[in-house]
Amino acid sequence: MPHYQPPLRDMHFVLDELLDLNAELAQLPAHAGLDATTVHQVLEEGGKFAAERLFPLNQTGDREGCHYDAATRSVTTPRGFRDAYQQYVAAGWPSLACDPAYGGQGLPVVLNNAFYEMLNAANQAWTMYPGLSHGAYECLHAHGSEAQKQLYLPRLVSGEWTGTMCLTEAHCGTDLGLLRTRAEPQPDGSYRLTGNKIFISAGEHDMAANIVHLVLARLPDAPSGTRGISLFVVPKFLPDAQGEPGERNAIGCGAIEHKMGIHGNATCQINLDGAKGWLIGEPHRGLNAMFVMMNAARLGVGMQSLGLTEVAYQNALAYARERAQGRSLSGTKASSAPADPIIVHPDVRRMLMTARAYAEGGRAFTSYVALMIDRELNHPDDSVRREAADEVALLTPIVKAFLTDNAWIATSEALQVFGGHGYIAEWGMEQYVRDARINMIYEGTNTIQSLDLLGRKVLMDQGEKLRRFGEKIRHFIVAQSADPAMAEFITPLADLAEKLVKLTAEIGGKAAADPEEMGAAAVPYLRVAGHLVYAYFFARMAKLSLTRAAGGDPFYQAKLATARFYFARLLPETAMLIRQARSGAASLMAMDFS
Ligand SMILES: Cc1cc2nc3c(=O)[nH]c(=O)nc-3n(C[C@H](O)[C@H](O)[C@H](O)COP(=O)(O)OP(=O)(O)OC[C@H]3O[C@@H](n4cnc5c(N)ncnc54)[C@H](O)[C@@H]3O)c2cc1C
Repeated sequence: MPHYQPPLRDMHFVLDELLDLNAELAQLPAHAGLDATTVHQVLEEGGKFAAERLFPLNQTGDREGCHYDAATRSVTTPRGFRDAYQQYVAAGWPSLACDPAYGGQGLPVVLNNAFYEMLNAANQAWTMYPGLSHGAYECLHAHGSEAQKQLYLPRLVSGEWTGTMCLTEAHCGTDLGLLRTRAEPQPDGSYRLTGNKIFISAGEHDMAANIVHLVLARLPDAPSGTRGISLFVVPKFLPDAQGEPGERNAIGCGAIEHKMGIHGNATCQINLDGAKGWLIGEPHRGLNAMFVMMNAARLGVGMQSLGLTEVAYQNALAYARERAQGRSLSGTKASSAPADPIIVHPDVRRMLMTARAYAEGGRAFTSYVALMIDRELNHPDDSVRREAADEVALLTPIVKAFLTDNAWIATSEALQVFGGHGYIAEWGMEQYVRDARINMIYEGTNTIQSLDLLGRKVLMDQGEKLRRFGEKIRHFIVAQSADPAMAEFITPLADLAEKLVKLTAEIGGKAAADPEEMGAAAVPYLRVAGHLVYAYFFARMAKLSLTRAAGGDPFYQAKLATARFYFARLLPETAMLIRQARSGAASLMAMDFS
């Protein structure tokens, strides 16, 4: 049976020591009264809920899956999911980082993010239900009319109702310009929506009284392509005059998918048969509005993968300490036992350290991005808000793709630590690998994230956002240059920063002549950029640990060991990636597949 322990010590290190959360919050009027002690208490309670309430439902939910009843078009979630959700709602967890004007607790995004890491580590499939609701809340909060906000937000904030995002159709996944669902205007100002959506997560379930679907569709006069897409709110039950769930709307679940992982989450075909809906925001500007939800979801998917990386690491570590096979190359370590624990073997340690480094690097990076979102939302200075928004835009595709690719590697390495037992369901490791795989696909595949980073976020603004983030790295490098103990971290960081600048210019030049060059370089480019970000955060964590390790706390020694492993064993991948990115489009485009 797997286990999970919320990584509170590392969270405190990242929030308090690396990011100086108290000082950051003091600059944000909305959070000025909040201090580290309260943040710790919330995380401790949140960790208990995740570990004690959700984690025991993870394996059972995976085995049982969701049940679909065609007669009633209803979905029953695995045993225990509904009760856990009710407990989650009763404890007020959905409202943590929501606007107090709609019943929220108004706590910072950075706190909610850490909470979501623990929920996802404990049970990704379950966490998708409230996770999507929070995305729907953010979208309606940003783009809904006042009446829509008054009606839907308090119920999403309380968790009484849940939300979905309905984009995908059978012929239209990445290319949303192809979507066909139609919305006909009605005399009363509402719309009738007709079409079929597929793969809609949490599209139908038994956990909440109503489901608020946010649906992309076309108006009759819509231009073709992505410029003709509008966004609608389509509730499962039409709210009555008091805002309570009333008449059943003509939107329903036609089937659920049988799939590789996240079995506890219902992936639904959603049919709209003249369903009543209301326009959100401007006609034909739906994709713009939906991007609020999509960006939130991209960060959310990064957090799913961080949670899986952490829990897989914890279980592999426990197993490696116990499992006895062979003897250490440098001589027997457990002389009273017939064999040494496998943790003595260098390659087992490589696998463990890979997962550990990806968890710790990912935690530092995503906490930073979440804090930038808090700045973007709440800093009193306009220019600080804009700068934070630019950083979030630049870093979001890296959070989505780099963390999810790394979780695929980390969960697979953690499974490998178990040998054949990792492949057996009882140990829980194969579930982590299966669950991790979807994160590289939905919310825009990792290829699409890479194209977004290189094409839109870097080349389209002539590298300006990247240059400004690079300035932060440069300042840190300059500040550390007089400290010889930091040279082992600063030298490779500075080297990679310089190489990324050169690589960007080279690809930019080639892409201007042939756009295929951008597509050919994008995926390795994103991984190089991801490593630059991790190298920066590991160097900063190493700096703190070098000064604090003298106090004797083994936490800092361990942090230094992880940072050193990262620079020695994971960062060198960039040499190969840069060669791949530079190798151009020719070898990809030459084959005549006919
Ligand atoms: C379990 C699950 C849950 C999901 N949940 C939701 C949900 O809640 N709501 C929702 O709307 N959707 C959801 N999806 C859909 C998901 O977002 C899409 O599957 C995803 O965006 C990819 O679309 P597609 O499957 O049609 O693949 P395609 O778009 O057909 O892509 C196929 C391949 O081609 C590549 N490709 C496509 N276009 C390009 C391009 N321009 N350049 C380079 N490569 C390209 C892709 O990267 C991919 O490798 C879910 C899917 C799954 C499996």
